[in-house]
Amino acid sequence: MANALGLEVKKVTDYTAEEVETTRNWINSEEYKEKNFARQALVINPAHACQPLGAQLAAHGFEGTLPFVHGSQGCASYYRSTLNRHFREPAPAVSDAMTEDGAVFGGQNNLHEGLENAIALYKPKMVAVFTSCMPEVIGDDLTAFIKNARQKGFVPKELPVPYANTPSFNGSHIHGYDAMLLSILQSLTEDKKLEGRCTGKLNLIPGCDFNTGNYREYKRILEEFGIPCTMLADISDTFDSPCDGTYHTYLGGTKLEDAADSINGKATITLGPYATPKTFAWIKDTYSGKQVSMPLPMGIEKTDAFIMKIAELFGKEVPASLKNERGRAVDAMTDSHQYMHGRKFAVYGDPDYLMGYVSFLLEMGAVPQHILCSKGTKKIEKELQGLLDGSPYGAGCKIYMNKDLWHLRSLVMTEPVDAIIGDTHGKFAARDAGIPLFRFGFPIMDRVNKHRYPLVGYQGVINMVTEICNKFIDIKDETCEDRYFEMMR
Ligand code: SF4
Repeated sequence: MANALGLEVKKVTDYTAEEVETTRNWINSEEYKEKNFARQALVINPAHACQPLGAQLAAHGFEGTLPFVHGSQGCASYYRSTLNRHFREPAPAVSDAMTEDGAVFGGQNNLHEGLENAIALYKPKMVAVFTSCMPEVIGDDLTAFIKNARQKGFVPKELPVPYANTPSFNGSHIHGYDAMLLSILQSLTEDKKLEGRCTGKLNLIPGCDFNTGNYREYKRILEEFGIPCTMLADISDTFDSPCDGTYHTYLGGTKLEDAADSINGKATITLGPYATPKTFAWIKDTYSGKQVSMPLPMGIEKTDAFIMKIAELFGKEVPASLKNERGRAVDAMTDSHQYMHGRKFAVYGDPDYLMGYVSFLLEMGAVPQHILCSKGTKKIEKELQGLLDGSPYGAGCKIYMNKDLWHLRSLVMTEPVDAIIGDTHGKFAARDAGIPLFRFGFPIMDRVNKHRYPLVGYQGVINMVTEICNKFIDIKDETCEDRYFEMMR
């Protein structure tokens, strides 16, 4: 059969089993890996989502806030369904559904009509507007559009409407999160800085983190210290809510008045610096008190640093309960290190998660052989290399910046590892390689309740050790010869 260009097209069904087998083997070869890594103009299965998805996550972290997508309806469905599949909770958001006419004449009419309808129907306390690709490509001027919306009365005078440009052809969900969070905080704190006022609270920014268990873990740690906290963009109740038989459009989130007063905080810590660089830079220039940017507290060393920094900022002793918890985490690591020691891992994901995975693995004497970031920078690479250089288990490990999960597949097929750490998208490579995938990232759409298990703090260490080691023991039990099938492992 010939195609429109007159070229012969071979149907998939025309290939012999032998040809299929040859190709199957070839894509596992070194030769194919070289070709795969020479690829430049095509991305296959990227390990990141688009900017507006991160913006929507930030918006959900505030009380009574309606995420509003200026752009395509289909894009909005993608963010909503991805969040929905990960958390197994609704992720309500609206879109002004730009179509062909909006693409030609601009989307101001869509935005105005959409804002008027959404505010009347859903009665939000705040509307957080962000963009999909289409209005960014045509250059819609959000600043002017929203100013006009206020002048024309589509938006009530007192209603905060922060907005962020979130072009997806640039950056990833973490950049959208940063842009939206910055705009929300700028909007809510305007004129709220008071001379001489101090809330006495810690402002904690957990970063673009999709694990509700992590948020609860931070709160628990701060309760142990007895330190009052305003968590900025708190999604813990939004996406981990009790099932009471009633649908709530707005659940949880940071109270808007607390967010507004955060500018008068005693101190601000942002965790996951790669997810909030712009927000943190602005906070440093604007907020009262001390400001600290730290890595996610994953693994013992990074958790220690977090705990000590809190103690230092608030002049408090580390509570005995947390010291005991640290001891239990170290005990859990010691009890199980033999199941992880020397094991090789491939890890991928957001830079802040990657720093945490790599630190933790090195602490366990495991080898993070392939480290892959699909939106990487020289700075991220340098920091990762620093972690590797600081441990004998980091020797020979390689970092791959701006590579995708098809590259990862070539890596695990040609330079085998014992397991992969990442999100659900890595399951295909893990299956082909016949190794387990530890689902610690975002999105996790094929397992339940993972977002409820913290990976940060000492409890996070225990959770990660338990999950990884028990899986290796399971594999041993399932695959060993009868004579090695033991009660004890
Ligand atoms: S990348 Fe652009 S077009 Fe695709 S879902 Fe994201 S915003 Fe929409």
